[in-house]
Amino acid sequence: MKSIRGFAVAITIVVLMLAYYVNTNDRVTPPMPVKGYLDLRDWSFEKDGVVSLAGEWAFYFNEFLEASDFDSDTMSRAQYIVLPSNANTMNAVKPFVNNRFYGTMRLVIDLPENSQIYGLRSDIVLSAYKLYVNDIYMGEVGNVGKDRESSLPYYKPLDSYFSVKDNRVELIYHTSDFYFEDCAITPPQIGFADQITQSVKLGFGRDLFLFGMLLTMGLYHIGLSVIRKKDQGPLFFGIFCLMFGLRMLIVGSRVLPTLLPLSFSIYFRVAYMTVFLGVLALSAFLYVTFEALFPKIFIKVSLYFTIISIVVAAVASYKLLSIWIVPYAVVEFTLMGYAIFVLIEGKKRGTHFAGWVLLGFVCIVFTFLNDFIYETTLANRASMIPLGLTVFIMTQAYTLSAKFSNAFASVEKLSGEKEALLLEMKHVNANLENIVENRTRDLREALAEMDLMSKTDYLTKLPNRRLMIQKIEALVQEKQDFFVAIADIDKFKIVNDTYGHDKGDIILQDLSRRLTKALEGIGFVGRWGGEEFMIVLYGSDSIKALRSANTIRESIASKYNIIIHSPITITIGICAYNDKITLDTAIANADKALYEGKLGGRNQCRLYRM
Ligand code: GH3
Ligand code: MG
Ligand code: MG
Repeated sequence: MKSIRGFAVAITIVVLMLAYYVNTNDRVTPPMPVKGYLDLRDWSFEKDGVVSLAGEWAFYFNEFLEASDFDSDTMSRAQYIVLPSNANTMNAVKPFVNNRFYGTMRLVIDLPENSQIYGLRSDIVLSAYKLYVNDIYMGEVGNVGKDRESSLPYYKPLDSYFSVKDNRVELIYHTSDFYFEDCAITPPQIGFADQITQSVKLGFGRDLFLFGMLLTMGLYHIGLSVIRKKDQGPLFFGIFCLMFGLRMLIVGSRVLPTLLPLSFSIYFRVAYMTVFLGVLALSAFLYVTFEALFPKIFIKVSLYFTIISIVVAAVASYKLLSIWIVPYAVVEFTLMGYAIFVLIEGKKRGTHFAGWVLLGFVCIVFTFLNDFIYETTLANRASMIPLGLTVFIMTQAYTLSAKFSNAFASVEKLSGEKEALLLEMKHVNANLENIVENRTRDLREALAEMDLMSKTDYLTKLPNRRLMIQKIEALVQEKQDFFVAIADIDKFKIVNDTYGHDKGDIILQDLSRRLTKALEGIGFVGRWGGEEFMIVLYGSDSIKALRSANTIRESIASKYNIIIHSPITITIGICAYNDKITLDTAIANADKALYEGKLGGRNQCRLYRM
């Protein structure tokens, strides 16, 4: 930020110096014309530059005289006007009050002894003029005439080049004004031909450079405002630049009037409009840039006054327009003075950019003031527009770009924060997914457990009666042959009564494990209820099934039970299942066989026989 500021200041200073250099024409004061004569015999054009012919010129009101007309008689009735002239200075000389007149303007100059080619630059000589140098016609700007009908105003510089006999030059202007009535005549400049061309080139170059800068700035900022409609500052700033860019081509070296000879009325009116619109855009720029500082009335007054001024510039006579410019200037300078005051207050309060805008704004107001005085009084001061505009444009462009860069910085910061937030959200999301996954798994596990619990006997962990029926029905579905058997612990009531229910439970668990193990590969077992187990034996061979059941029974009976220090025996009832009976019948039959086994003395296997 600091380096940008430094850079802006450096550029501003360089441009200031350049502008100063371009504006510095003559530093040594040359002699002035007195009573239509100027002695430049001791003037060194090489060293001290061109001479502005400000001073007393001979003037002959309402007559056009030629070189041959000037005898001592003619010269004695000359009036002497002072250049630069305006209505006031002219009225002191003029033998009539009317500001519509024509006449002949004459100056004789004695030049240093050398055989140089000289150049003469004429700018404003009333509203039209013809120039003769040593009785040679040099050119005409506008149409010089004796009345309004035969004359036509035009403003553009006329550069004439000539060689001099006897080191004396006689300048004769035929001039007229039936339009502006401002009696404005600016002093022509005389110098060596190459000095005049040089200054013409410089003037053109300076105006074109400024025009280019203003055009670029204008388009750039209007472009910005198109992209970013929210912020109107760049739009108004852009309009300001374009208006004064256009003005640069009309006034100053009058690039456009020189290159494109339209009716001068157009240039004249447009030049005024560029000021009116440009100043309005400037006010609007201040207003939107420092919304909090300026009251609405500020922009309203500026707007209404501009609308009226534009209408005046479009339709009013030249004279009315040049009169209108005075109240306009009073109002606008008041507004600008007020704006400076507001900006100083803003700067004190630490409003962003108020200092920079203030710096540029003071420059531009000073410029306007200078040029207003120049335009109205034609005082011999150089146009400040290039200097003031440059400083103003630089500081405002800096302000706008800094504003934008601040905005970008905060956007970047915001998007950075957004990204961090996004990352965190992603994180939380991922976590959430994890959490949900974990919960789902827990739930699934719990469900599985519940499912298992609903199918498993709590004490023995064997399939319960429900699961056993499911498993057996699955075998039925698969059309497998099998035997159902019910095993019941013998005299288990006594075991419970003797050793306690806890010991009974342990025996049930122990027995469950042993039955499960014994049935591996040949069938499976579940708890049927109480001290009864349901056993399924695969196959259809009754002998084999009975043998398997007996093996299991014997393996249990042979075990000396470590818990109660006496053997535990079981009785098993078996029934073959096939598709001729139902599963319920097979189970009921197995139960019948078991009952027979109990009756038959227990610790035995009985096969149900149909
Ligand atoms: P039998 O040889 O005629 O089967 O005689 P029993 O005593 O085994 O038969 P009964 O049906 O009269 O008694 C069954 C006993 O089994 C009753 C009960 O105390 C015991 N019993 C049933 N379920 C459990 C259990 O879950 N834990 C314990 N410890 N004992 C149980
Ligand atoms: Mg029983
Ligand atoms: Mg029993």
